[in-house]
Amino acid sequence: MEYLTLKFIEPYWYQFVDRFGEDFLISYGTFIAHEVFYFGAFLPFFLCDFIPQLQKYKIQPKKENTWKQLFNCLFKVILTHTLVQLPMMIIFHPAIHATGLRAKAPLPSIPYLLLTITCSFIIEDFYFYWVHRALHHGFWYKYIHKIHHDHSAPFGLAAEYAHPAETLILGVGTVIGPFLFSRDLFTLWFWLGIRLFQTVECHCGYDFPWNPTRLIPFWGGAHFHDYHHEKFIGNYSSTFTYLDRIFGTSDKYYENLKKQLKSN
Ligand SMILES: [Zn+2]
Ligand SMILES: [Zn+2]
Repeated sequence: MEYLTLKFIEPYWYQFVDRFGEDFLISYGTFIAHEVFYFGAFLPFFLCDFIPQLQKYKIQPKKENTWKQLFNCLFKVILTHTLVQLPMMIIFHPAIHATGLRAKAPLPSIPYLLLTITCSFIIEDFYFYWVHRALHHGFWYKYIHKIHHDHSAPFGLAAEYAHPAETLILGVGTVIGPFLFSRDLFTLWFWLGIRLFQTVECHCGYDFPWNPTRLIPFWGGAHFHDYHHEKFIGNYSSTFTYLDRIFGTSDKYYENLKKQLKSN
């Protein structure tokens, strides 16, 4: 069962931790990892805009995003990351350390890592569904969530384009899973990378027929979340479709989908 472990990475990971130090990696390192994952995930979708053959997969082809929108989004995202997320990671570092999170911990087995990722997605999706739905009411929408809806035809970079309060509130849902299932930085970063790729992909504006996430049961994806940005209502989940199905908040989306399929 040696192949189901991450023992082969462990010596390199420990060398890396010794070189930069646990405290630096948990605070600044997590911030740098977040930036690399976020902008790294956006880059391939950004390049798609320059490939004419891919334009037929655009979900809202009539709405073209301008360079002005892109730079405005980039500026605000960097501002929120450096003025909100980075200070939070530094301020909460003692509290995070007190929870027992360690960089130099034994790496999990591959099945346990996959279990952590799956459970983290389910927990985050549940939290996101209810908090996001609440953010669509009165004061919360007008003063906080409206900013995220500046883009009615989103593009990857717009995933974290949001009010700083929203970044903090929804960020809680992202960290619940890894803190319940593990206390090691490797798992936290692994989850962070996957979750960031998922949210950027959800906002990318393209629905590719070969996307392997289509094979995952109840997976929402870009088409599902794009509808939320286009109509400003319904499809509140971040990852899966079942909560919106159960609570009837995706009924209009599926009606619309049926009409589209009939007319094609
Ligand atoms: Zn919303
Ligand atoms: Zn969104």
